[in-house]
Order: sequence, then C-alpha cells, then structure tokens
Amino acid sequence: MNCLFCRIAAGELPAKLIHEDDALVAFHDVNPQAPVHVLVVPRRHVASLAELAAGDDGEDAALGAALLAAASTVARAEGLAAPGRGYRVVANTGPQGGQSVEHLHLHVLGGRDLSWPPG
Ligand code: AMP
Repeated sequence: MNCLFCRIAAGELPAKLIHEDDALVAFHDVNPQAPVHVLVVPRRHVASLAELAAGDDGEDAALGAALLAAASTVARAEGLAAPGRGYRVVANTGPQGGQSVEHLHLHVLGGRDLSWPPG
C-alpha cells in the first residue's frame, strides 16, 4: 500500500488521531496552517472529491455525509463551534485545487480569523 493516508488510516504510520470510526479517521495536520488544523480522511481509498462525486451507488453519498458530520464533530471537540468562534472546511481537489495527497480528505481549520477569498 503506497498511499500515505491509507497507511495512516490503517495504523501503519503514526499520526495524532483525534477521532475514528469504521468509515474514517481524523488527525492533526503535520504542517498546520491554523491553530487548529485537522484532516478528516476516509479509510477507503478515494482519490479525491471528484472521484467521490462520480460514484452513484449511495455508498459514496453516505461516505460524503459521514465525512462532513465528522468534520462538525471534530470542530466541536476542538472548541471551534463555541459562540464567537468558527471554522472552515476545505477539500482541495486536483492540481489546480491545490491537492497534494491523492486520497480524499477534508481540512478543518480554525482558531484564528480566516481570510476570504483564500487566494
Ligand atoms: P492537500 O494539499 O489538500 O492534499 O493536503 C494534504 C495535507 O496533508 C497537507 O496539509 C499536509 O501538511 C498534510 N500531511 C502530509 N503528510 C502528513 C502526515 N504524515 N501527517 C499529517 N498530515 C500530513
């Protein structure tokens, strides 16, 4: 298995895990872009959001919903859902989208004022 995030999800490589269930894992980004920067990653190898959207079997839709729900859970656990706070969920997709790891992941970013547009 050559995929970095497959190996983290399988426990073959270390990561600071903060949440996991049958479908996904969440861990701290090794190069955080904000005080809180967590990645939510499906255990199943899906190359990108574009590939997930191509699925029409219902399983992909359920996985997408589970990833979003986990992002919300993680954000709450990290204190980002408290009054006056907030966070951003991002799925970089493809070369022009800035994706560097070809295994679908949601970034959960927060803990500071986040600029928009991201540039
Ligand atoms: P992206 O550029 O959207 O594909 O995001 C990939 C993210 O994975 C980047 O923010 C990296 O800092 C992060 N990353 C790469 N390797 C690791 C690792 N071993 N553990 C945790 N995060 C990682």
